[in-house]
Amino acid sequence: MKKKILVTGGAGFIGSHLCERLLEEGNEVLCVDNFFTGNKDNILKFFGNPRFEFLRHDITFPLYVEVDQIYNLACPASPIHYQFDPVQTTKTSVHGAINMLGLAKRTKARILQASTSEVYGDPEVHPQPESYWGKVNPIGIRSCYDEGKRCAETLFFDYYRQHKIDIRVVRIFNTYGPNMHPHDGRVVSNFIVQALKNEDITIYGDGSQTRSFQYVDDLIEGMIRMMNNEKGFIGPVNLGNPTEFTIKELAEKILTMIPESKSKIVCKDLPQDDPKQRQPDITLAKEKLDWEPKIKLEDGLLKTIEYFRKQ
Ligand code: NAD
Ligand code: UDP
Ligand code: UDP
Repeated sequence: MKKKILVTGGAGFIGSHLCERLLEEGNEVLCVDNFFTGNKDNILKFFGNPRFEFLRHDITFPLYVEVDQIYNLACPASPIHYQFDPVQTTKTSVHGAINMLGLAKRTKARILQASTSEVYGDPEVHPQPESYWGKVNPIGIRSCYDEGKRCAETLFFDYYRQHKIDIRVVRIFNTYGPNMHPHDGRVVSNFIVQALKNEDITIYGDGSQTRSFQYVDDLIEGMIRMMNNEKGFIGPVNLGNPTEFTIKELAEKILTMIPESKSKIVCKDLPQDDPKQRQPDITLAKEKLDWEPKIKLEDGLLKTIEYFRKQ
């Protein structure tokens, strides 16, 4: 059945892909965004669609609308952006979650929280299953994001226990693809943009830290499956690609995929609290949602490189 769906943070990287997929499925989509890191270009192509509506709004303030489902994605996601105004970052995660949960309570909408692998902090358990509680610095420069997202999960589970709200929580691992902000400092966009501009490829530290990268289309499939599962499975569930690489390997791969690039790899200081390794354990997503990533790193990188070439 077609639904009225609210996507907060819908003008951002992941949100814009989610809006597109939900519109393709015939739903009515209300995209709410304050354009802090999002961008009108990401959603421009939906404006002619009568089932699409945009509202410029900051979710730290109450919002009164009538909807069937809420995807709560609003929150700056890259370290440069979430550290720019850390107090606002925590407010977005915490006050934003309270407002969206209040909205879900009044409208009886199902609500999905876009949480993050950052709730595991710099993990001592590898790969990370959902049952791992994490190792997070409460007072560091990443804490506004990590602890904000952890508190949002707490709020989701308390609204579930206390008010019987129909919640879903997904923990998203590093994701990349078209519509990423070219200057938000995340590693995939940084390396591609640097390679295309023949600038130095900046590896932080010695590049031995690992990440696992999922292409955005795989993530969207997982989020939609999680939202619409009727088995009462509320999560939290990891959504990520378990194929793990070092950051150095990623830099080298991108350089081979942009053979005309004259860029050289240089090493810079490693930021504070930068996790050494990160890899999702996706056993639960496979079992409960019959989901696993399908798109190979090379294929996803090709599409992302094409996108940045056109910018
Ligand atoms: P993004 O920065 O591209 O998108 C976030 C969007 O939220 C932007 O459009 C921004 O303008 C909007 N926003 C920020 N504060 C807001 C506020 N107070 N009110 C209304 N809108 C606001 O980031 P993204 O990569 O698309 O991430 C989307 C969500 O997914 C975030 O919640 C993020 O924490 C989560 N996530 C992303 C990744 C990733 O690898 N991209 C990994 C884990 C979790
Ligand atoms: N809220 C909202 N939209 C709604 C309903 C509630 O933004 O449709 C906000 C409201 O401002 C409130 C918050 O959500 O502060 C939490 O709502 P809840 O009903 O849990 O708490 P209360 O209203 O009792 O403070
Ligand atoms: N990184 C890097 N060079 C860059 C940007 C990032 O070496 O130009 C590293 C960063 O230190 C981290 C990894 O790449 O170890 C992933 O960084 P990103 O900000 O994309 O994601 P997160 O740290 O949140 O996983």
